[in-house]
Amino acid sequence: MKKHNFYAGPSILSQYTIKNTADAILDFAGTGLSVLEVSHRSKEFQAVMDEAMALVKELLDVPQGYSVLFLGGGASMQFCMVPFNLLRKKAAYLETGTWATNAIKEARLFGEVDVVASSKDANFTFIPKDYTVPADADYFHFTTNNTIYGTEMRFDPDMNTRLVADMSSDIFSRPVDVSKYDLIYAGAQKNLAPAGVTIVIVRDEALGHVDRPIPTMLDYRTHVKKGSMFNTPPVLPIYSALQTLRYYKELGGVKELEKMDLAKAARLYDAIDSSRMFEGTVTDPADRSIMNVCFVMTPEYKELEKDFIDFTATKGIVGIKGHRSRVPRIALQCTAYGKRGSARRSHERI
Ligand SMILES: *Cc1c(COP(=O)(O)O)cnc(C)c1O
Repeated sequence: MKKHNFYAGPSILSQYTIKNTADAILDFAGTGLSVLEVSHRSKEFQAVMDEAMALVKELLDVPQGYSVLFLGGGASMQFCMVPFNLLRKKAAYLETGTWATNAIKEARLFGEVDVVASSKDANFTFIPKDYTVPADADYFHFTTNNTIYGTEMRFDPDMNTRLVADMSSDIFSRPVDVSKYDLIYAGAQKNLAPAGVTIVIVRDEALGHVDRPIPTMLDYRTHVKKGSMFNTPPVLPIYSALQTLRYYKELGGVKELEKMDLAKAARLYDAIDSSRMFEGTVTDPADRSIMNVCFVMTPEYKELEKDFIDFTATKGIVGIKGHRSRVPRIALQCTAYGKRGSARRSHERI
């Protein structure tokens, strides 16, 4: 039996993605070769790259003047690539969780970093609201969905500076006004594909303004110029990403995905809120993520936690026990992909 994957990431993928990837591992596009061994310079793989880039643009309504890249190194590589390429003097960062903290640490290697607000003292249980971004910041960086803590900013903030966002765990879950951003990045393994590729959407005009030398592989311009084919790209994750992008389009695009995710999250939060056994960990309901639903057992029922996890295991649920970072309170979680996966199953039944 296929399990319900509640891990925050890597997350469940659509059966469409997994089946088509498995088929291409045996025979890729009628080439008589596996996608694992085919040349990335072949016309068949070029077609995969072109369609994947075009679908990212279509699904997120990316305006003219932006490039879509498929890079290696994970979202964590972007923590240094972003300041390497964009930080001239000063950047502003919002500290809302582990990933934001990691991004801040890397940015400090390249210039002044103004952490405009942080919810660290409250174990990242909310998103800070009252802060100002200095007008002379080169960009304002924030994490749209804090995967481990279950908080989310489901909007594109109005700032007096360009935005850079880590959308690793909520990309394609809502329409985004890309024109407000200089750069958006997302590691694939949360909402798109197996680990190994990261999507970057970058405003071409934002590049080339820093004085420091940038190593070739870490310079976005290298990859813009070569269409993400400067070196061998992560062929297999890109192939899988294309399958998921097609599947998202077939489901009706990001507006439809948002409706589905909102409905599923509401069911979960309603169940948690109406139960005496569970409580949500996010303090302000406005900050609640519809991607990662984090909850704990109430103090009264705390000693039943192991029983609860054992019970969910009998129902084919794996990964519901939360991330180890969320100590001291052991937390439970449900993730977007668990939810989206079950939507697919009902979709298939219709
Ligand atoms: C998982 C995650 C990362 C780290 O991604 P890697 O690809 O493992 O480097 C960064 N940011 C967010 C929001 C994440 O959820």
